[in-house]
Amino acid sequence: MARIVEVATARMARPLHTPFVTALRRTEHVFSVVVRVTDADGRVGFGEAPQIWRVTGESQASIEACVLGPLAELLTGSDPLLAPAADLHRDLASAVVANGGARAATEIAVQDLLARAAGVPLARFLGGRAQPVGTDVTVAAQGAAWDPAGAAASTFDQVKIKVGLDPSDVGRVIEIHRTARMPVRVDANQAWDLATATAAVEAWLAAGVRLDFLEQPLPAWDLAGHAELRRRVPVPIVLDESVFTIHDLRRAIDAGSGDIVNIKLAKCGGLHAGLELADLAREAGLGVMVGSMMESELGLSAAAALASAVAPDQVHDLDAAWWSIDPAGDAGTPYRGGTFVIDDSPGLSHAVARVDAAGLTWNKSAPG
Ligand SMILES: [Mg+2]
Repeated sequence: MARIVEVATARMARPLHTPFVTALRRTEHVFSVVVRVTDADGRVGFGEAPQIWRVTGESQASIEACVLGPLAELLTGSDPLLAPAADLHRDLASAVVANGGARAATEIAVQDLLARAAGVPLARFLGGRAQPVGTDVTVAAQGAAWDPAGAAASTFDQVKIKVGLDPSDVGRVIEIHRTARMPVRVDANQAWDLATATAAVEAWLAAGVRLDFLEQPLPAWDLAGHAELRRRVPVPIVLDESVFTIHDLRRAIDAGSGDIVNIKLAKCGGLHAGLELADLAREAGLGVMVGSMMESELGLSAAAALASAVAPDQVHDLDAAWWSIDPAGDAGTPYRGGTFVIDDSPGLSHAVARVDAAGLTWNKSAPG
């Protein structure tokens, strides 16, 4: 293996076929930064970091500045084969505070390079399998209709409904459950208080809704509130925005705040951190789900690899790339029959080809 000689970034903007609306934000595009690392033998690896002001605080400009600045400075000249994954994670975390998406994309690019060099898919490199993993599909908040004849209904068999913007949400969940005839997941993205969340769950249960879980109903900081909600209602509570790091998860476990943790690479800072979070969650008896921000197939393929390694039989939250793929006209879509298909090609090379990395405009770090 050879030393890393170049770190490069490229901005990506892809339109969505349906606007994505949650209690935190509305977007009609994927805005992200693709990271590429190159070693002295010309081998490459890729990762993706999403712009998401309202969750991680990162923008395309901040991600580029972070990756081409302190992270490139750290990596350039290093030999990734000589650094165990734990050291790489620690070094990236030492180089910059926060910036989880930028750190994750850079770490994933290095892991992709290593997996390609080993000739195995990233999922297998992490201990998983190159097999499809289950995923839900999201129903956006505020007025988004559920179309039982639409592509989503025919392709997926688990829905996650975004709520928190409107009092009619409680009735909308009941209606979607009735129409879709499948258990539903609900995500309030921190929008509710304890009384609102309690009343909503009671209304759904009274109406016969099969509720798989309720995700992040209360503000991220309110660990005590989530713990009290767990005592009040017989429904699993998922923590998303409350848990970025392993320290957040320890606090949440100590407070008894959740039943399941939603692990996202842009929150925790990469694959190694994701594996650690899953281990700690399991030790404490919590369930594990892997999610993502609004990203392309590249970021989603890394998330799916992690999902395959930590919980291959779980239905995850990996539909984000579906929103920017023509649901009817793309024969190569990784979304098939309620799953995200993990390709058998080395590293993330299949996903990299799908986002046409060669066609992107690259900014390079200073030569090392
Ligand atoms: Mg969420």
